[in-house]
Amino acid sequence: MISIRHLYKSFHTPDGKEIHVLRDLSCEIHDGETVAIIGPSGTGKSTLLRALNMLEPPTSGEIIVDGEDITRKDYPVYQLRQKMGMVFQNFNLFKHLSVLDNVTLAPMKLRGLSREQAEQEGMEFLRKVELAEKAKAMPSELSGGQKQRAAIARTLAMRPEIILFDEPTSSLDPTMVGEVQGVIRQLAQEKMTMLIVTHKMRFAHDISDRVLFMYDGSIYEEGTPDQIFFHPRKPFTQTFVKRIRTLTFNITSSDFDFYDMTSQINQFCIRYSMPEKMDSITHVVEEMLILMRKYGKPIHIDVTYSEMDYTSTIVVRHQGETLSPLEREDADELAVMIIRGMSNDIQTEQTPEGVKLTFKM
Ligand code: ADP
Ligand code: MG
Repeated sequence: MISIRHLYKSFHTPDGKEIHVLRDLSCEIHDGETVAIIGPSGTGKSTLLRALNMLEPPTSGEIIVDGEDITRKDYPVYQLRQKMGMVFQNFNLFKHLSVLDNVTLAPMKLRGLSREQAEQEGMEFLRKVELAEKAKAMPSELSGGQKQRAAIARTLAMRPEIILFDEPTSSLDPTMVGEVQGVIRQLAQEKMTMLIVTHKMRFAHDISDRVLFMYDGSIYEEGTPDQIFFHPRKPFTQTFVKRIRTLTFNITSSDFDFYDMTSQINQFCIRYSMPEKMDSITHVVEEMLILMRKYGKPIHIDVTYSEMDYTSTIVVRHQGETLSPLEREDADELAVMIIRGMSNDIQTEQTPEGVKLTFKM
C-alpha cells in the first residue's frame, strides 16, 4: 500500500549547516498491517511520519501510496490528507470547538457531508472510542486520555486508509495510557493500517505485526515483534530493547521519608504498567527499611523492571553482616513470612562491595 524508497530529509540550521535527518530510508507498509516504529530520540521517527503525510516534504526519494508518487509536484495534498490521518502526542484539538464539532469539522469541509450526516457519523466514532457522553463538552473539560480518544475519533471521521500515530500516549498521565492503547488495539484488530511511533515496548510488541527499529535516520533493523524484542540481530537494537528501568534509593540515615518512597514505588509500578507488583515491591522494601532502622546500617536499594519479560527485581546492597531475615539468627518471624510470601526467588551474595540481596518477583 505504501512504498518508501530511498527517502532523504535534511534541514538547514539558522547558521547555515545542513543536518541529514533521514538518510536513505526504504520500507513497505502493507494493507491492514500495524507497524510499530521504535528507536532512540532524535533518530527521525517524527520526521518520517511528517514526511509521509507531506507536512515536511522530503528532500529526495519516493513515497508511493496506492500506486502514486505523492512526492511529485502536482500531487493534490488534500487527497493525501484524506487517505492518511495523523494522531499527535499533544492531541491538537481545536480548543474553541466542542468534541463533536472537532470531529465533524473536516468531514463537512473535505468530505462534503451535511452537518446532520457529519454529526450522525461523528457520534458513531465517539461511541467507538467511548466518548459519546462527552460530545457537547469542550476539550478543556476532558482528561488527557479523553482528549486523545477524541483526537482519534476526529481522525477516524475522515475515514482514512491509514493512520499515523506519533507517540500517542507519551504526554498522558500513566493512569490514562491504557484507555488510549485499548482504542488503538481495537483498531488493529479491525485491520486498520497503522504506523505507530511509541516508546512503550510491551505495547509495541503486543499490538504490531511488524516492528521497525530506527537508528540514525534510517531503518536499522526490522522484523516480527518477537524477532526484534527477543532475538534482535544487530548491536544497537540489542542495547535498545534490553534497556531496563530502575528506581534507586540510597538510604544513609534512619530519618528517611517512608511515605515519599512508597509513593515513588507506586508511581514507578503504574508508569511501567505493573500495578500488580506494587504490593510485593512495597512490602519487601518496607521490611528492608525496618531492618535498616533496627541495625542502623546504610542501604542502597535498586528496584528494576524489565519491560519485556515483566520481571521485577529488588537489589539491596549494604556493608557488613547480612540483613537478610532469611539468614539471620535474630530474624523477625513476620518479616521472614512477608518476604517469602512476596518474592519467589531470593538470593544472597557476598561481593567485593559488600552484601547483595536479590529479590525477584
Ligand atoms: P524523533 O521523533 O526520532 O525523536 P525527530 O524526527 O523529531 O526525531 O528529529 C530528528 C532530528 O531532526 C533531531 O535532531 C531534530 O532536532 C531534527 N529536526 C526535526 N525537525 C526539524 C526542523 N523542522 N528543523 C530542524 N531540525 C529538525
Ligand atoms: Mg518524535
